[in-house]
Amino acid sequence: MMERLGEPAYRGGQIYHALYSERRFDLAAMTNLPAGLRERLAREAAIELPRIVQRYRSSDGSVRYVLALATREAGARAATIETVFMPEENRQTICISTQAGCAVDCHFCLTATLGLIRNLTAGEILGQVLVALDENRAELKPQTNVVLMGQGEPLLNYESVMAALRILLDPGGMGISPKHVTLSTSGIVPGIERMGLEKVRPKLAISLNASSDGQREKIMPINRKYPLEKLLEACERYPLRTWEHLTFEYVLLGGFNDAPEDARRVAKLVSGLRCKINLIPWNPGELPYEAPDAGRIEEFRKILVEKGQLAFVRYSRGQDVFAACGQLALIEAAKVDSVQGLQN
Ligand code: SF4
Repeated sequence: MMERLGEPAYRGGQIYHALYSERRFDLAAMTNLPAGLRERLAREAAIELPRIVQRYRSSDGSVRYVLALATREAGARAATIETVFMPEENRQTICISTQAGCAVDCHFCLTATLGLIRNLTAGEILGQVLVALDENRAELKPQTNVVLMGQGEPLLNYESVMAALRILLDPGGMGISPKHVTLSTSGIVPGIERMGLEKVRPKLAISLNASSDGQREKIMPINRKYPLEKLLEACERYPLRTWEHLTFEYVLLGGFNDAPEDARRVAKLVSGLRCKINLIPWNPGELPYEAPDAGRIEEFRKILVEKGQLAFVRYSRGQDVFAACGQLALIEAAKVDSVQGLQN
């Protein structure tokens, strides 16, 4: 853009640095740019972050933001997405969306009820991190973790997700370490294979949630397309870096997939992989699943550990504001039309 404006290319680098490294969003305040250029940019360009239309603060400190997306085509369905900011003692974790809605149709996930509205652009993906950091700038901790676990299947919006990640992970850009960024997939095998070839990539998490094909198909229809055997073969071939583990996420649905036999089958499925397993007890909500019994959770974890696996129980945050895993579907979905007037 700078070259097109007849400026030296390094001006682009200065703006990139101000925007992503220093997180300054006011072109007029970029005083290392000549005054003439700043004036011209004020006329011809704009820096826009996704617009927050709602903030829900949880008693555990996390904040769920509802962001309005611009409607790109006349008559297109208006869309909002969600981003969750979770402060911890020494770091913050930001959970971002990669699509508005989702077509994958996992039955335990409220986002699935929206269907796919549209893919997000790289700017809209990255913008969520910038907004969350900017909103909470007064109390930021030194470390930021980003998880691509909000609305959408990131590997079905591959190009935009990777474009956003390249800036997020660029030491001269947002400078977040790949050790602190995790992309979670429902198991899109071609996407996993493609991501393994990327020079710049985050950590990979697989949403497993079942111990057999029959069981997985009942809650994740995507398993018919990419059954466990194919998925786990892709995991075996995945080129892990020396410091890296694969993560398997396993939402424990009471009475459905939380039996001791399930734990033994899961241990067998992932044996031989350098991985850890996060057990996420189901958050009771609008969908017809039950929270697992505390004893079953611990037994499940113990069986995995006895079989030599790294297994942890992770409780979702922000449950009281519907920010928890699988609940990012907008209670506001029905109110989407009223949000239209707030679009960028
Ligand atoms: S869990 Fe993820 S992939 Fe599955 S429907 Fe929900 S958003 Fe889509």
